[in-house]
Amino acid sequence: MTQIISIANQKGGVGKTTTAVNLAACLAKLKKKVLLVDCDSQANTTTAMGVDKPALKASLYEGLIGDAGIEDMLLPTMLQGLNLVPANVDLIGFEVEMMSAPRREARLKEFLFPVSDKFDFIIIDCPPALSLLTLNAFSASHAVVIPLQSEFFALEGLGQLLDTIKRVKNAFNKSLIIKGILVTMFDRRTNLSQNVVDDASQYFNDLVFKTKIPRNVKLAEAPSYGLPVILYDKTSPGAKSYMSFARELLKR
Ligand code: ATP
Ligand code: MG
Repeated sequence: MTQIISIANQKGGVGKTTTAVNLAACLAKLKKKVLLVDCDSQANTTTAMGVDKPALKASLYEGLIGDAGIEDMLLPTMLQGLNLVPANVDLIGFEVEMMSAPRREARLKEFLFPVSDKFDFIIIDCPPALSLLTLNAFSASHAVVIPLQSEFFALEGLGQLLDTIKRVKNAFNKSLIIKGILVTMFDRRTNLSQNVVDDASQYFNDLVFKTKIPRNVKLAEAPSYGLPVILYDKTSPGAKSYMSFARELLKR
């Protein structure tokens, strides 16, 4: 059974892309067949995987508007078992052009359908907005992982996100669940980080993953080399924490 998981939070810079790239890489390292889908016009995931964007023949945009099939778009990566559907800035056009198209929220689901049984996991990196692209990601997914940055404003806006997930569940995708909340950029030395974890645990109980992703410079450096952190520095705290997150997710 394929599990399709969206990594989403409409707040910017909370670690969605870092989580999508490194979770996908760690799952592949654990011998799973994984497809990483870049569903953000910033295309940070595509860059972080070392893909030369100007050289792309087709990207998710062409796939979503029906100009290209997914088989022509799967890029192999440096990790065995990990493939990528890349994006570029063209994806901005999708929101505007689809404004009044029929079943516009189901485009990604239909695009992924031909290959979905070829993978154990499909990991979708969402943009920082509750936009049509995010709606497509939620409609296509079995589950959502919410990265939560351990900073003061972390919990603000979470209600809106949970509300959107509930609405998509009611309208388009009965089986959608929240897989869990992943605390990112955790700094054990500050009370603030601990307070965010305490607040999140109080509201969401067991939904908060036990693994916390620490603030670690290797996680921030790895994308500039076009590598997931396990290939950039596998002994770093960042690499170890995403490995344990992948293991925890497999158990959940
Ligand atoms: P956006 O909303 O723009 O898509 P995002 O939620 O995808 O952002 P990232 O791009 O993953 O967030 O992270 C934001 C910045 O923080 C990046 O520069 C990234 O390298 C850095 N970063 C993410 N997680 C960590 C971490 N655990 N330790 C150190 N730096 C991190
Ligand atoms: Mg991102």
